[in-house]
Amino acid sequence: MKVNFNKTNGLVPVVIQDYRTLQVLMLGYMNEEAFEKTEKEGIVTFFSRSKNRLWTKGEESGNFLTVKSIDIDCDRDTILIKVIPENVVCHTGSFSCFGEKEAKGFLYELENTVSQRIDQKSEGSYTYSLYQRGINKVAQKVGEEAVELVIEAKDNNAELFKNEAADLLYHFLILLKTKGFSLEDIERTLESRNQ
Ligand code: AMP
Ligand code: ZN
Ligand code: ZN
Ligand code: ZN
Repeated sequence: MKVNFNKTNGLVPVVIQDYRTLQVLMLGYMNEEAFEKTEKEGIVTFFSRSKNRLWTKGEESGNFLTVKSIDIDCDRDTILIKVIPENVVCHTGSFSCFGEKEAKGFLYELENTVSQRIDQKSEGSYTYSLYQRGINKVAQKVGEEAVELVIEAKDNNAELFKNEAADLLYHFLILLKTKGFSLEDIERTLESRNQ
């Protein structure tokens, strides 16, 4: 599928997302030349509207954006690029142009997936089907997984123990979402105890 640059006077908006955490990092614009350079080099080059020239993000700061994947939207007039960011993305020193903090790690990505399954009412999703059975059922499931983990803790099978630990964490994320809390909320509670 090709980007349609004609529709928008040659410039197309580009959403830059962290490939691992899916955090939105910044928004820029590309013309066809910038897009081709980006595809060729695997490093993001925009067309800067203020500089009025091609702008390789990181050309001064060294904070390049390495391309992991490029997607084009339904009507081919917006680009989504997942990247590995180098250091910080925003010239103000913030990790993202939309916020100070870096979204961290696979757990946060999983939290994101769990959240999407529920928000999008994904059919055939175990996450959503459990959520639909209500808070008592979700909480009960967390209890069951905790008990299974306790049982494995007394045993000596590393694989079973890790699997039950994973089950517990996963169901814990569903419980948080069902209660309307995020991993970050719990992180803050833990942080505040640590002062
Ligand atoms: P860099 O491309 O990181 O070397 O930065 C070069 C210049 O581009 C900076 O001095 C800013 O003017 C601008 N710039 C860098 N990063 C951003 C950004 N995320 N959003 C908007 N402008 C930026
Ligand atoms: Zn579109
Ligand atoms: Zn910025
Ligand atoms: Zn289990």
